[in-house]
Amino acid sequence: MQHQQKQLHWPETVTRPLLVSGHCPDGADAMAERLWRGAGFEVREMAADWGTHGLKAGFVRNAQMVEFAVSLCQQGSRVLCAAFLDLCRKWDCRMSQRQQLAPRVTGHFSHGAVDCRAEALSAGIETVDVFPSRLALAT
Ligand SMILES: [Zn+2]
Repeated sequence: MQHQQKQLHWPETVTRPLLVSGHCPDGADAMAERLWRGAGFEVREMAADWGTHGLKAGFVRNAQMVEFAVSLCQQGSRVLCAAFLDLCRKWDCRMSQRQQLAPRVTGHFSHGAVDCRAEALSAGIETVDVFPSRLALAT
């Protein structure tokens, strides 16, 4: 099989593609940042401040990201939220009995992604859901 590298192409109206990232060191944030920078685009890192906000740091950061996105909308930018919905991996999750997925897939989505998605939708930001291919195949 021949590998084809795809180039990102933007509509002419997009003059400055900006990725607003939660800056988690692994997973979707890290992958998106590598892709974005590799294409020569700008990344705005908005890492959670665990030292200041403790266990709520991710949720505080999510609200800050959405607030920043809303400010971009108010300045005339088009904003799209991509919610990467993977399974919660917390071994001691208090919500382990909560099921959000299709009948043949047990579990629920990661709390941070669900929270940020809800914040974005609540703010009126266009949002798309992105699922790992293993979940899409299981439905
Ligand atoms: Zn959980």
